Amino acid sequence: MLRRTLLLLSGQSWLRHWMETSSASRRFTSRFIAGRTLDEALRVASQLAGDHILSSLDFLGENVTSIDEAAGSRDSYLKALDGIASRHLPATVSIKLSQFGLDLSEQICLNNVAALVERAKSLGTRVEIDMESAAYTDRTLNIVSEIHHRFGGHVRAVVKAYLYRSEQDIARLSRQRIAVRLCKGAYREPAEVAFQQKADVDRNYLLLMKTLLETGEYPAIASHDEAILNECLLYVREKRIAPDRFEFQMLYGIRRDLQRKLTQGGFKLRSYVPYGDAWYPYFMRRLAERPANLLFIAKNVLRG
Ligand SMILES: Cc1cc2nc3c(=O)[nH]c(=O)nc-3n(C[C@H](O)[C@H](O)[C@H](O)COP(=O)(O)OP(=O)(O)OC[C@H]3O[C@@H](n4cnc5c(N)ncnc54)[C@H](O)[C@@H]3O)c2cc1C
Repeated sequence: MLRRTLLLLSGQSWLRHWMETSSASRRFTSRFIAGRTLDEALRVASQLAGDHILSSLDFLGENVTSIDEAAGSRDSYLKALDGIASRHLPATVSIKLSQFGLDLSEQICLNNVAALVERAKSLGTRVEIDMESAAYTDRTLNIVSEIHHRFGGHVRAVVKAYLYRSEQDIARLSRQRIAVRLCKGAYREPAEVAFQQKADVDRNYLLLMKTLLETGEYPAIASHDEAILNECLLYVREKRIAPDRFEFQMLYGIRRDLQRKLTQGGFKLRSYVPYGDAWYPYFMRRLAERPANLLFIAKNVLRG
């Protein structure tokens, strides 16, 4: 019930405006958001690199309403790639296609993504294409596939364990040797397309994870679920899958204890590092995943 309310509030523009312009917000967002500027995000990525953690920079924003705005997102990400290269950081970027104009024109969106992946390729890194709600799945995977073939890789798709279709998507992506990030899924989806119970999502996650580890192209296991991570560690040991054939991914600021444990164990871990002013929908999804975070926020606000 609380999760549903938080996801509903994540789409409310009046609340979003109030929160994003409130001077108090930085106090409680800094745990999950690396900063408001690219410089701040690059500083965080440097600190993470010092702790042997890779990163993926996410310039926060989604659902642009004009072609100029979409081009602005592309340009911000081009700057992020240049910043990564000039500081020699082990980092990728993560983008959302609705931020690149997918709701306005598929062709313009494709052109914007192509410009970014071309730069990523020239700098020896890659662009990870986040997956938004189920309404975007087909269009997003089509663009990923087109870009992958055009640039010979340098792109990663995201597949979600809560969607019934994901087993087929993984089979198709693996056949094309497209890298995949596997996550559980953060949006509210109806029972026609997605499992509703956590136990079903977790069961599907384990199934898809094992398939990806066996047949995928450098998969990313994106989760903070300790039971899932332990199962992954057991599986790679049993199947003798080398640590350089996959990576773990976690969100900035979440389960830092587990992040340390994995890097100390010699595994690759990438932190998803969000930054920018448009932090509200991202932040609300993190609250919805774990309403106990509300207590953390309340404490920070009271501490004032
Ligand atoms: C690198 C990365 C990229 C992602 N990209 C996408 C994407 O493109 N599209 C998409 O829909 N979703 C994405 N997600 C979000 C994902 O779908 C889940 O919503 C999120 O990761 C929570 O699921 P979980 O696997 O951690 O398991 P859960 O069962 O939700 O959580 C397991 C445990 O992790 C900890 N935890 C989880 N979430 C939080 C939190 N917010 N705050 C504090 N502790 C928490 C808690 O200890 C919890 O008990 C991404 C996640 C990661 C890590």
